[in-house]
Amino acid sequence: MQSFTNTVNGRQVHSASSFESRNPATGEAIGLVPRSTRQEVAAAVAAAKAAQPAWAALPDETRRELLHKVADVIKENADYLSQWVTREQGKPLGGVGPGNVPGSRFELWGCETWTRVPASLELPVEVAFEDNSRRDEVHRRPFGVVAAIAPWNWPLLIAIWQMIPSLRAGNTVVLKPSEYTSICSLELVRLIAQVLPAGVLNTVSGDGEVGAALVDNPAVDKIMFTGSGATGAKIAATAARHLTPTTMELGGNDAAIVLDDADPKQIAIGLFWGAFINMGQTCAAIKRLYVPESRHDAIVAELKVLAEGMPMGDGMQAETVVGPIQNAMQFRKVTELVEQARQGGATIVCGGEAPQGPGNFYPLTLVTDIADGASLVDQEQFGPVLPIIKYRSVDDAVRSANGLDVGLGASVWSPDVQKAKSVAARLQAGTVWINQHGMVHPMVPFGGSKKSGWGVEFGAEGLKAVTQPQVISIPK
Ligand code: NAD
Repeated sequence: MQSFTNTVNGRQVHSASSFESRNPATGEAIGLVPRSTRQEVAAAVAAAKAAQPAWAALPDETRRELLHKVADVIKENADYLSQWVTREQGKPLGGVGPGNVPGSRFELWGCETWTRVPASLELPVEVAFEDNSRRDEVHRRPFGVVAAIAPWNWPLLIAIWQMIPSLRAGNTVVLKPSEYTSICSLELVRLIAQVLPAGVLNTVSGDGEVGAALVDNPAVDKIMFTGSGATGAKIAATAARHLTPTTMELGGNDAAIVLDDADPKQIAIGLFWGAFINMGQTCAAIKRLYVPESRHDAIVAELKVLAEGMPMGDGMQAETVVGPIQNAMQFRKVTELVEQARQGGATIVCGGEAPQGPGNFYPLTLVTDIADGASLVDQEQFGPVLPIIKYRSVDDAVRSANGLDVGLGASVWSPDVQKAKSVAARLQAGTVWINQHGMVHPMVPFGGSKKSGWGVEFGAEGLKAVTQPQVISIPK
């Protein structure tokens, strides 16, 4: 079996021990991933620390050019990397553009785009104050070494979101990918690090213990974390000991509210992919659908036709539109939550029964006759299940949507955009989409409210988040 390597200081390094990564569609081991030791984590951070001053001292223009070269490498290797994403993460290869499944090729396209945009952005000096006695300029300086800790759902795209703005601003990076999706992530970094100076971009690999060792390293100057709230809280505790600044992109449980003037036929496809993109394993996907009683049956009928018409299978096969759940832990969680809902008297409109055979396959599942308070509604199930909940008044729907302690995304669906906007303004979420859901964009800040995290990524705001302001104050 092929052994993969970490990238440390421009070299490919093995570890004394390794673990298998598995294909969620077949259950087969597909490669060996190094298990970084504490010493190896320290070596990766030390390499990043040593490389950082020279990287930050390069003219901004040079760093930007190098990041465009990184984007070129991603483009040239998109086929190779998307195959690893599919074999390891499970999403179908898919493609980009209307009618295509947002699968691995889409993820690689996103990686290229989210590299070119930060590489093109300006990070101007702002004049905070000026009169005839003084001038105060705000410059943006890098933190130093950024520790990036990524999840398994969009393994490459999220790692890119963490790494590229950090590099652009003059930080160096140590990435710890999820233990479930290490091969694709280590291969991405191996390829793109070749066009960067040694030590600027490094990886370590392993489970949460390796992540914990990384964030506990006193030479880490900033932490970018994307993952669950439970892990976020542990990382925040470690960061508090070292006073390390953090960006936290945590879990959500996004509500979509359909208003009573929405046309079920027109909105069905948007609701469907808003919920089931990447088999629902997307932080900002619809996890709770609130519909008025008058539209309930028509919406359920439209969604059922779509859900039952999507071929599920191994993402390497051309006809596959939806793949497996990424790992056994997540599969168990989804299965249990649906069972609890069934036992609580909910109706399983479609799906709800895992097929026999290998792989973590679970069908797209619609659940009705369910209300707030059921665990399937109140917990982030992070899988291919959508509870559809009837509401009586918009006030009730808003109260339900805001009733949880998370607030990543939300959406409002209506042909009357002004009306939708007035409902959006009442929702507690980092982003509220209108007549779409989860449509992130590299120029638009993205982050959570409440326990879905703090800080934002993307656009000028995201770039600022990986810098610290330095004021230069000049008397006149
Ligand atoms: P997770 O928290 O289990 O793991 C995320 C990463 O943290 C992994 O690399 C893991 O190895 C590492 N880790 C685990 N324990 C650690 C510790 N003590 N110290 C340091 N690192 C540690 O999350 P997951 O299951 O991989 O991802 C799913 C979760 O991520 C969901 O809740 C989802 O909503 C969330 N998510 C949020 C966003 C966002 O932008 N807000 C995006 C994607 C996913």
